[in-house]
Amino acid sequence: MRTLLRLKRLMPEVQWIMWQNRSCSDSSIRSLESNTSILKHLTSKITATGPISVAEYMREALTNPVGGYYVKKDDMLGAGGDFITSPEISQIFGELLGVWCISEWMAAGKSSIFQLVELGPGRGSLASDILRVFSQLKAVLGETDISVHLVEVSPKLGQFQAECLTGDKTQTCNDDQPAYRSGTTRTGLPIYWYRRIEDVPRGFSVFLAHEFFDALPIHKFQRTEKGWREVMVDIDPESPEKLRFVVSHSPTLASGILLQNDESREHVEVCPEGGVIVQKLASRIAEDGGAALIVDYGHDGTKTDTLKSNLFLWQGFKGHQLHNVLEAPGMADLTADVDFSYLRKMTGNEVTCLGPITQRSFLKNMGIDSRLQVLLRSCHDSSTRAQLLHSYDMLINPEKMGHRFQFFSVLNRGRLAQYKGMQKSTAPLPVAGFAELNVE
Ligand code: SAH
Repeated sequence: MRTLLRLKRLMPEVQWIMWQNRSCSDSSIRSLESNTSILKHLTSKITATGPISVAEYMREALTNPVGGYYVKKDDMLGAGGDFITSPEISQIFGELLGVWCISEWMAAGKSSIFQLVELGPGRGSLASDILRVFSQLKAVLGETDISVHLVEVSPKLGQFQAECLTGDKTQTCNDDQPAYRSGTTRTGLPIYWYRRIEDVPRGFSVFLAHEFFDALPIHKFQRTEKGWREVMVDIDPESPEKLRFVVSHSPTLASGILLQNDESREHVEVCPEGGVIVQKLASRIAEDGGAALIVDYGHDGTKTDTLKSNLFLWQGFKGHQLHNVLEAPGMADLTADVDFSYLRKMTGNEVTCLGPITQRSFLKNMGIDSRLQVLLRSCHDSSTRAQLLHSYDMLINPEKMGHRFQFFSVLNRGRLAQYKGMQKSTAPLPVAGFAELNVE
């Protein structure tokens, strides 16, 4: 039973997972000392052209093709890596999302083409658990033309995904093809890798993004006496090897276009790249049918300063996040909480959005309690049972991941049209996870 193997590997890590689902390892801290290439690159850029936006800083630190964290790091995920995520904690998580994908495909009219598209698939654990559910529910899916499409920027993680999902039976694609890698999954489905969402073929798709949007670059803005100003990254005049935040003297292009007129917060983070991606998902869902499920830690337009370096969070410098995010570009995972109210605004009027609701509510609605009981019934080893219960608690306990993580969905407008027409105030939403799964 794979859950158990995963949990055994993870047991020493659980203390820190309780508070922060992402954190760092000794190897990351050690490598901090040996690598300063991104820092050098950034300081020469700032010297030449002036302070850069926080978004540019984040983009360079995470996805610079030479030294970016996601591009360079061998394996940042899992027990031996820098952070751990829900799909890595328990197979139940992916199984329930697999049931959600099939339930949405059925509710949308059982399209003859069904593309499972995952953005930022990490080690491939979520897709693997979902594909196992697809295999188990083969009878339901019938002759449907199913294919798997992964959008991944990290070559290393792409390799992990290929190994996990295909046993490394993949081939590199020619440059003239939209995918850079292709193969066949262990369960016999065609699978493709892309760098950008726009390269994924059109067609009915269920899109999944688990802890993907929080890794996209944000702009930061501060309300000042002179109006909104963008927070920028500059060289610290007292220590030319270090970076510091400064508030721009005059408006920037971003402060002119990214802020809402009715904004009431004093400090705001905006993720335009996330906005563009969710717009692309929305227009595909509106035109081709399908749904998207976005899972991340985030808020509904209420939080202000959430940018953090998870490496330094783990070291316990919680009170000094602003300083710490600038200390080790390329060596540490940087994230910002996802603003779901912004994503909702960016989807436009052609789709319907549901959520955000807490991970606890979503997984409870999807039947996590029954699934746990089934696993416990077939398991007689006491330590394994304890581990199953522990991983369940990690996922749904409000003080662990249960309330920290939010589920948000983008649906084709037709999906809720009938419901909206006949709706009585007490009628439950007909979308699994956002209401109890209807198993009839
Ligand atoms: N979904 C996985 C991994 C989360 S980490 C899980 O929850 O376990 C973020 C993932 O997004 C990684 O796979 C990373 O390589 C990928 N990623 C980050 N920025 C990206 C970008 N701009 N385009 C495509 N993938 C990106």
